[in-house]
This record gives sequence, structure tokens and C-alpha cells, in this order.
Amino acid sequence: MKLKIKDTFNKLLPSDPVTENTRRQVPKSCFSYVSPAKTKKAEMLHVSKETLETIGLSSKEAMSDEFLKVFTGNQIIPNTSPYAMCYGGHQFGNWAGQLGDGRAINLAEVLHNDKTWTLQLKGAGATPYSRTADGLAVLRSSIREYLCSEAMHHLGVPTTRALSLALSGDEVLRDVLYNGNQAYEKGAVVCRVSPSFLRFGSYEIFAVRQDMKTLKTLVDYTIKQLFPELSRPSKDSYVTFFKEVVERSLEMVIHWQRVGFVHGVMNTDNMSILGLTIDYGPYGWLEGYDPDWTPNTTDSQHRRYRYGNQPDVVLWNLYQLANALYPLIEESTGLEAVLESYKIEYEKRFLEMMKSKIGLVSEENDDAILIKDLEDILQLTETDMTLFFRSLSNLNKNDTLNGLAVISEAFYNPVEVSDSVRQGWNEWFERYAIRLQQETLSDSERKEEMNAVNPKYVLRNYMAQLAIDAADNGDYSVIDELFTLLKSPYSEQPKYEKWFAKRPEWARHKVGCSMLSCSS
Ligand code: AMP
Ligand code: MG
Repeated sequence: MKLKIKDTFNKLLPSDPVTENTRRQVPKSCFSYVSPAKTKKAEMLHVSKETLETIGLSSKEAMSDEFLKVFTGNQIIPNTSPYAMCYGGHQFGNWAGQLGDGRAINLAEVLHNDKTWTLQLKGAGATPYSRTADGLAVLRSSIREYLCSEAMHHLGVPTTRALSLALSGDEVLRDVLYNGNQAYEKGAVVCRVSPSFLRFGSYEIFAVRQDMKTLKTLVDYTIKQLFPELSRPSKDSYVTFFKEVVERSLEMVIHWQRVGFVHGVMNTDNMSILGLTIDYGPYGWLEGYDPDWTPNTTDSQHRRYRYGNQPDVVLWNLYQLANALYPLIEESTGLEAVLESYKIEYEKRFLEMMKSKIGLVSEENDDAILIKDLEDILQLTETDMTLFFRSLSNLNKNDTLNGLAVISEAFYNPVEVSDSVRQGWNEWFERYAIRLQQETLSDSERKEEMNAVNPKYVLRNYMAQLAIDAADNGDYSVIDELFTLLKSPYSEQPKYEKWFAKRPEWARHKVGCSMLSCSS
């Protein structure tokens, strides 16, 4: 297996001088050296061909025994020193202290086509940051991370990638609903791939500990290695760096809102400094269009991480990052100005994005109102977000009396849609029809544009759950089918038409489909 190793993180940043793998606070260090645990009987279940190519490996190499061993933690790549990263984080609004890679172990950085990628195993054993947990991951959550991160990539959403999904052969004890019902599940290891796994919490930890030296070292490293287009580290460039992080985070959350992705645990330790979607846990996809929806049962009371709140949470998280960077800059106006611009920029980008979803290109003053009214009416009766926007592109400009018929498949309970709601829809379609007359695109051109931003297929929770249930019984074909389907989420795929459907009723209140916890 030929990988071009180019480690920087563990070469240029301060390491934990203690090399014993014991759980503890790790001061003044960005990482601790740690070896992955050997597993009982590793078995590779799936490999992403696209990610393989991204890091410069062939499908043939992926079939090797070496690949299996390396990406399940049973063998270390020659001349590398695996490590777990130290970070902290704000969890559900409160500072949680040191967290760190509790069950993630970075293997190495590899260079391919002028890009550097960090390879990281998730679920490969305990580290100094494992606190009270075991450092392992179960098959259920690993399938969810593996499928979703690749699906997000193909949707055009900035994300970490997944290279491989393997069974460890070990049994892992979990209490899925945190209600005292522990059970053994199959253990698994996913190899994730990203230019970097640094998070907002990676910087916060040093600011909170008032360790300005390590904070500066890490920020300077970040700018040099990951934001080389910015000028050399200086007080000015720290603000420019922050601005870049703000822009990327904004871009990421706009995409989430576009495709209906709800992250579920947007703690600052789960916010990538590169603006990538990271840490796929109790995430979900909006089915009925409901801004208050969250898939995470742990968050069901306050719904901090509900769909409609994600853009504000990104901003809240950016404030925490700004606080962490402040000691290096000692001047708040620059950071404040950048934070101020987020809201204005978000409104602008959100409007553009929503306009694209309904096929509007030209500028009209009332577009924001038309969209706001659409969001309101979508909530009056349970309406599937994906089906709605995808179907809307079938409307003909001159036949908008037909609006309701075109989108009615998206209603979860068509017979219960009241006359007043129907009336509301008809009025909205009348306004939409008038607005479409101001557009120059033909129906087919508009349809093509809309279908490029409104996915036909997303990884609904019940779909992931079907793949999990089958895999639990040793059948990995659903994983492969969904993986293949989600490579082309915007394309018509007649043979997979069955996945272009509302969530079935059996999945409405099922664990894993509508109710997810952080247990993974
Ligand atoms: P998460 O909510 O998954 O982002 O995890 C928050 C923190 O808990 C991170 O520091 C994780 O590394 C750690 N963590 C989560 N699950 C485990 C586990 N099974 N073993 C060790 N650490 C874990
Ligand atoms: Mg995390």
C-alpha cells in the first residue's frame, strides 16, 4: 500500500510528554501519542472508492490484508506515530472542559495531488481523552457516519469524508436510550478523512487554560498549514483568519438548510475550523418541514439544535471561537465587525439559496416575502421537504392552477389537508405563477436548475436504519445500495425510485428513525 506520508500536526505542534495511555487532563499539548487497540476479528464491510482515489490508493490496494489491518487499527503505517488530539468544547451552551479525541485516533497525514489529508480511525480504542467511556464505536453509529458523510459530499455540502467501514469483531456495551437497558452491539471502526480535524474547541481549551503560548502556536500552525492563502500569522491575519472561518461556517450551514440536514449536536467541539460538517452522531433529515424539529432526544426539551436554530447556533459558536482568539489580538473591534456581518450575510445568502430552490433567478423586491410565506404554509400541514421541492420543479409556468396537484404527493396525510390550507396553497401558487412570469428560463431550464439544488435522494433516518438492521443480520447489501444511490442525489435513478418516498408510517416513532441519542 503506497501512501505518501507527510505528517505536520504531530511534527510541528507540542506533544503530551506523558506517553502512557491513561485518562487524564493533558496540559500545554495539542495531542497525545497513542496506539490503536488491536481488535478481535476485523472484517472490512465497505470502502469508498472516491475517498480511496482522493488519498491516492487503488481499489486493488483496498483489497489487501494490509489495508484491512491499517484501517482497523491492527497495524501501524511504517514511520508514523498515531495520536489523539486535545480539545475542549461548549456542550449545550456550557463550557465542558477538556474533551479531546476520546475514541478517535489519527493515523497520519498523507499527501496526494498537492492536498494533505489526515486519516483518522473512529472507534479504535481508548485514549487519554476517553474520560469514563470505552473509546469504541458500534456498527449502528458507524454505518450512519460512513453513509452520511459520503452522501453529504455528493450533495455538495462541505464535510469530512469516510474511507472505510469495518467490523472490529469485538462486542461493545451500549445503553441506546439511556434508560438502563444496556445491551451488547457489534463494534466497528470507520476511517475518516479530512484536511484537518481541528475544531473550535481545539482553540478554546488553550484560551480557557490561559495557555497563550500553545494557543498562538496552534493558530499560527493552522494559518500556515490550512489557510496558506492568508498572509503570514500576525494580529491582522488572526482577524482575517477568523473572517475566513466565519465565511466557511456560514457556507456550511446554508447548505444544511438547503438539503434539510439537522446536525443534532452542534457543540463547539463538533465545529470544524475548516467549516466542514463533522461528527455524525444523532443527526437527521427533515421529513415534514418543521423548523422546530431535532432528531436528538437528548436535546428534545430545549431543542437548542433544532433545524431552524442551526444558523444562530453557528453564530453562537463563532462567538466562542472569537473569545478564544481575542487574547492573541487584544482588540475586539475587528472580531466584532466580522461577527456583526454574519447576520446580514446570512440573510442574503439564505434568500439566494431559497430562491434557487424555487427556481427564481432575477431580482424582485417581494421575493423574501414570497419565501417567508412559503415556509409558513409548509408548516400548516405535515409536508415532506425533499418531495416538495423536488416536485415543485414539475410545475409549468402557464399551468399554475395545478400547483397543489403537482406537490400533493409531499403531504403526509393528503385527506386531512383542510380547505383553508388548500386555499392558502392556491393563493401562494397564484403569486408564484405571477412571479415565474418575470423569469426568462423555460420550464425545462428552470426544472434543470431546481433539480441541481433540490436533491431527489437524501439519507432519511429510516433508510439508514434499514441498512443497520440488515447489517446486524450480516447482510451488507443495503449499505451498498444506499451508498450507490447517494452518490448521485440529484439524478433521476429509476431503479431506485422506491427511495424517493415519504418516511413510512412504521418509522414515525421508531428508535433510530425519529429518536436518536448520542449513544454511539
Ligand atoms: P460527541 O458528542 O460524539 O461529539 O463526543 C463528545 C466527546 O466525548 C468527545 O471528546 C468524544 O471523543 C467523547 N466520546 C464520545 N463517545 C466516546 C466513547 N465511546 N469513548 C470515549 N470517548 C467518547
Ligand atoms: Mg464530537
